[in-house]
Amino acid sequence: MSSSTAVEKRSELNPRTTSYEFCGPIGATLITIGVPLTTYLLYFGCSQQNGCPPPLTSIKNPEILDTLQTPEFWKSLWDTEATLMYLGWYAFCVVAWLVLPGDWIDGTLMRNGKKIQYKINAFSTFLLALGVTAGVILRFGPESFTFLYDKWVGFVTASLAMSIVQSIYCYASSFYGGKLLALGGNSGNFIYDFYIGRELNPMIGSFDLKSFNELRPGLILWALVDISMACEQWVRRGGTLTDSMILVLGFHLWYVADAVYNEPAIFTIMDITTDGFGFMLAVGDLSWLPFTYSLQARYLAFQHVELGRVGTAIVVVVSLTGYWIFRSANGEKNDFRNGRNPKNLTYMETKRGTKLLTSGWWGRSRHPNYFGDWLMALSWSLATGFDTPVTYFYPIYFFVLLVHRQLRDDEMCEVKYGEDWKAYKKLVPYRIIPYIY
Ligand code: NDP
Repeated sequence: MSSSTAVEKRSELNPRTTSYEFCGPIGATLITIGVPLTTYLLYFGCSQQNGCPPPLTSIKNPEILDTLQTPEFWKSLWDTEATLMYLGWYAFCVVAWLVLPGDWIDGTLMRNGKKIQYKINAFSTFLLALGVTAGVILRFGPESFTFLYDKWVGFVTASLAMSIVQSIYCYASSFYGGKLLALGGNSGNFIYDFYIGRELNPMIGSFDLKSFNELRPGLILWALVDISMACEQWVRRGGTLTDSMILVLGFHLWYVADAVYNEPAIFTIMDITTDGFGFMLAVGDLSWLPFTYSLQARYLAFQHVELGRVGTAIVVVVSLTGYWIFRSANGEKNDFRNGRNPKNLTYMETKRGTKLLTSGWWGRSRHPNYFGDWLMALSWSLATGFDTPVTYFYPIYFFVLLVHRQLRDDEMCEVKYGEDWKAYKKLVPYRIIPYIY
């Protein structure tokens, strides 16, 4: 094939992105700066030293501006020991992926006619990490596992550095070797493509960076961060945990276990099938997820909220309701997409060839799974009581994320299904919450 024909073929397969999401390059710049900033702010704006949130008088205090201008403050964001530990953790995840046995399964068919093979061993990686953690705590005591609490800022910086390095590497390498690009990440605008992710599936040999980061070094770290927060509370209280901490720890561990146990389910989600691997996913997976989703547990490490029986019952009911909706809705769709329909749900045929469920959870709203996910998020914050609004950051942010994600998915489905999607929307008018939204 002549080189001009090869170039033509490549640009046919990788057309220029002509419409922006996230308000284009300006939005991409703001989020690229805003996500790391917010991750730090949630720490400085909710900690034992500063208060949660800090009193208004201290925020207005000009000393804060002075502090920000000192090199000591900026140096304090870096912690070499935490960075080495973080690198050790990342290496542990890679080695576990490599050595732990697991089936190789096919991903979805890509537009170049190929399928990526993924190794399924996130759950065994999670169990191994939990086993090692339990061993350390049993052998050396809970005080040996409070380092994630003590070195919080250093770990945040290390994870941010990792996401920046990976996104720069992926952006640069996307220009070599005729890579398959993400349809949304090939605009030609550096900051936008860097943020959205230019290459669809950056790989090193058979190691797929995107799916690896999605489930292992960030998500499992979230569980370990929570355990560390519980150890901190345990040590401070002289050997007990509050009911609120037990609930938050239990819910978060369950959520992580559920995600890694159902590893094959991620290969059909938007992040894997559609988005490239850029700063958006790298920072989301590696920094944002473990260090902001664990805010409730970090708060409870220094604020020992007791819920009592009624409070506990309310939190448990909200969480289990959310989990039931989340799991059964995702299960119905996964079964259906894999050719099974055990509940005999009704569906409509489409010109595209794939069918759309029109009863069960998917007949009640177009994203019932988002509603369940959000209810769980709300329950984790309810467990922290009502003394501070800061611990409600997660459900508020998550609501915005899910609404935005629903709009993105709706647009994409409209492109995929055309008139059929309009007909489906008439049959299922609610977007996320049945009868409300
Ligand atoms: P969905 O699981 O809702 O998948 C949307 C896709 O499902 C559509 O593009 C379409 O794809 C298919 N679909 C839509 N309607 C139907 C129907 N009626 N019948 C059959 N298939 C249908 O979205 P996501 O991938 O965004 O989310 C997956 C999970 O991840 C959710 O549970 C979500 O809550 C969770 N999540 C969690 C986040 C977190 O930070 N904790 C962040 C984002 C998501 P097609 O027809 O091509 O198959």
